[in-house]
Amino acid sequence: MDFHYVSHANRVIFGQGKIKETKEELAKLGKKAIVLATPEQKDLANEVAEIIEELCGFVYTKAVQHVPVETVINAQAIVEKEKIDVLLAVGGGSSIGLAKALALNTSLPILAIPTTYAGSEMTPVWGLTENNLKKTGTNMIVKPKTVIYDSNLTLTLPKGLTVTSGMNAIAHCAEGLYAENANPIVSLFAEDGVRALASSLPRILEKPEDMEARGEAQYGTMLGGMVLGSVGMALHHKLCHTLGGTFNLPHAETHTVILPYAIQYNASHIPKAMEALARALNTTPDDVPGALYDLSSSLGSHTSLEALGIKEIELDKAAEIATKNPYYNPRPVNKEGIRELLQYAFEGKRPELAYVK
Ligand code: NAD
Repeated sequence: MDFHYVSHANRVIFGQGKIKETKEELAKLGKKAIVLATPEQKDLANEVAEIIEELCGFVYTKAVQHVPVETVINAQAIVEKEKIDVLLAVGGGSSIGLAKALALNTSLPILAIPTTYAGSEMTPVWGLTENNLKKTGTNMIVKPKTVIYDSNLTLTLPKGLTVTSGMNAIAHCAEGLYAENANPIVSLFAEDGVRALASSLPRILEKPEDMEARGEAQYGTMLGGMVLGSVGMALHHKLCHTLGGTFNLPHAETHTVILPYAIQYNASHIPKAMEALARALNTTPDDVPGALYDLSSSLGSHTSLEALGIKEIELDKAAEIATKNPYYNPRPVNKEGIRELLQYAFEGKRPELAYVK
């Protein structure tokens, strides 16, 4: 065995009803908090403000997707004026993303209470959009010091977002298994993350009040975030980034469609990862892409790029952009191979058996 592993310490409070412990946890980080949320989650932000009582300095509910620089400037002025010393983000990647951008500028600690399965709360990755361009980077200062997972907060998550952000978390785990800097510890998180999400998402859809399944999905999400924050991603994430950025395809839905085909493309070069995925999905290594496809289609999500609105004629350009700059992938990436992958994903047929060495 030969590997590098870097642990990123943080504190995780996990369990149904744990939002009640927010004040106690917050007091370990600061004396005056700004609660950050999107306008849609204003009620939840106010609920959290009540829980933390005198530790609440301001409730800011103007967080939006992709962290526009204008929102950061606006929120930062409040942070400075109110002498805020801790950032409390409640919500999904958008609220947590705003907290991260503020932490990058101010070095203030973050307490995050996630309500989706995006996993941003467990990563040191930040993003910022200026003049329609999204910049991203990694800095340990933005990684939340404390994360509170409360399964009650996912009860209001719409079905569509439950499925696609859950599949997105599976993608973080899957690519972590064959990352350039993959290591046995992160692979343990990744395999168990896929297992937990693949097992819990169908149960949540079948019985929305199944709190055990909701807890398990959050546990898988947490592992997915740990994987995403620890090792590099490859072809799947690169392709989704290209399709989202250039063709404006929806982020989580694109992940859901592409994942089975990206795994199929890499299968012959990642035998150990295929075995881990097979264990997690309760199938055989050569049927992993098919099992991922079955999972997303059984959850009612789109399974083809065509359904997401891209035109077949645009696939050539997508393949070109996705192979323009070199990046790590276990199977060498070339334009013809990626064009073929995109064609499969466009048509959305169940991937055939993958050849595994
Ligand atoms: P989001 O935070 O944008 O939320 C989508 C919508 O759902 C919002 O209106 C939000 O208020 C609402 N919502 C969230 N939780 C809800 C709940 N429980 N009940 C009802 N409504 C709820 O969505 P997201 O998928 O969590 O985040 C996406 C963003 O996060 C993207 O910008 C993505 O790039 C970023 N992201 C960053 C990282 C990272 O490591 N930095 C990781 C994953 C995603």
